Amino acid sequence: NYHVVLAENRKLYNEVQDLKGNIRVYCRIRPFLPGQNQNHSTIEFAGEDGELIVSNPLKQGKDSRKLFKFNKVFGQAASQEEVFRDTQPLIRSVLDGYNVCIFAYGQTGAGKTYTMSGPSLSSKSDWGVNYRALHDLFHISHSRRNSIMYEIGVQMVEIYNEQVRDLLSTNGPQKRYPFSNSNKYTQMLWAAFYYKLSISYLSLNMHACFFIYQIKYCFLDLHTLGIWNTTQPNGLAVPDASMHSVNSMTDVLELMNIGMTNRATSATALNERSSRSHSVLSIHVRGTDLKTNTLLRGCLHLVDLAGSERVDRSEATGDRLKEAQHINKSLSALGDVIFALAQKSSHVPYRNSKLTQLLQSSLGGQAKTLMFVQLNPDVASYSETISTLKFAERVSGVELGAARSNKEGKDVRELMEQLSSLKDAITRKD
Ligand code: ADP
Ligand code: MG
Repeated sequence: NYHVVLAENRKLYNEVQDLKGNIRVYCRIRPFLPGQNQNHSTIEFAGEDGELIVSNPLKQGKDSRKLFKFNKVFGQAASQEEVFRDTQPLIRSVLDGYNVCIFAYGQTGAGKTYTMSGPSLSSKSDWGVNYRALHDLFHISHSRRNSIMYEIGVQMVEIYNEQVRDLLSTNGPQKRYPFSNSNKYTQMLWAAFYYKLSISYLSLNMHACFFIYQIKYCFLDLHTLGIWNTTQPNGLAVPDASMHSVNSMTDVLELMNIGMTNRATSATALNERSSRSHSVLSIHVRGTDLKTNTLLRGCLHLVDLAGSERVDRSEATGDRLKEAQHINKSLSALGDVIFALAQKSSHVPYRNSKLTQLLQSSLGGQAKTLMFVQLNPDVASYSETISTLKFAERVSGVELGAARSNKEGKDVRELMEQLSSLKDAITRKD
């Protein structure tokens, strides 16, 4: 009986998750790029079990070493596949009805997009978490097809200066219906009302052409918005964002192309806008149990955050300053929310940014959160690396680097001793 298995699965999953907690932080260090000086790495030690020691190689001293602890650290050699392997259980839980949020945080150039999407789509081994997740969801849902019928839908939006934009809109300029997050019938009434209104403004002969156009888009919108959004309690709270059903990786790759093209259009216009906006890919899963007809819903949000680098206040003016302020505000709001959740605080400040508002139903409660903290090992990025790690430390609710207890101090010493004896061994061999 599938229900028994599902219940057991869930119980087991909950037990494992309870041990681990609902918030996980993984650190990933990207390799040096051609042309970067590899002699000046800020990473002294990256341990399999989540320990990370960073220091400034140009400023040796007792206080320059800092220890951080994560659920996992992926070193420079880690492949996309390895990274996905440790993310997979979380992603699979979406098919059992869980909500999951995965974020990539870090300064521009630290590998956020590489981890989430990958450097290219042509080679499967390059695929980032996004594509692997969808591939995996299709695979599992197919294997369960005799007991559960799954439907998978995707949305993709960009948040720029606290404004949300649908990246998958194929309907030209986005339309807004008031109360579009209300029920399907209210939406239909509004659509009809809008339609009537537009008729009264047009002369009769113009009307004929427009009529067909309006009817077409009216139905398209009702289909894409109405059906999914009104029945999706755990979705992204963007009433305007179109939802697209996907059945295969071909569908996915096609949609991603549209998304990337839409994003790129503004990127050239606004000079690398992609690093200054958050992009959110939301995967909605709806499963119908074929025997009992019961419905199960899960949702996976994959977020490539805006670059976390601080903009020099004295240099930034106008639009650049506004962008920087919006990014600061939204990233710190996200930090505050995750921190509150990690502390199991009774008040979680979701309302302070668009991003946290949109993801509210998938952050907290039974929902799981994973943060990829991306690092650039180059010494030129040292101060950004430290501020990224401070953010990570805060969201995970564990402060190590800043205020080390005696025990942790001892751990660092032990690790450093191990490291230097290993270094000695290598030199002796040479
Ligand atoms: P971000 O999205 O954080 O600005 P990118 O993902 O665009 O950064 O990465 C910056 C550069 O580093 C890109 O050229 C990317 O291909 C490369 N890169 C990032 N992470 C890795 C990695 N793990 N392995 C190889 N190259 C990487
Ligand atoms: Mg990027």
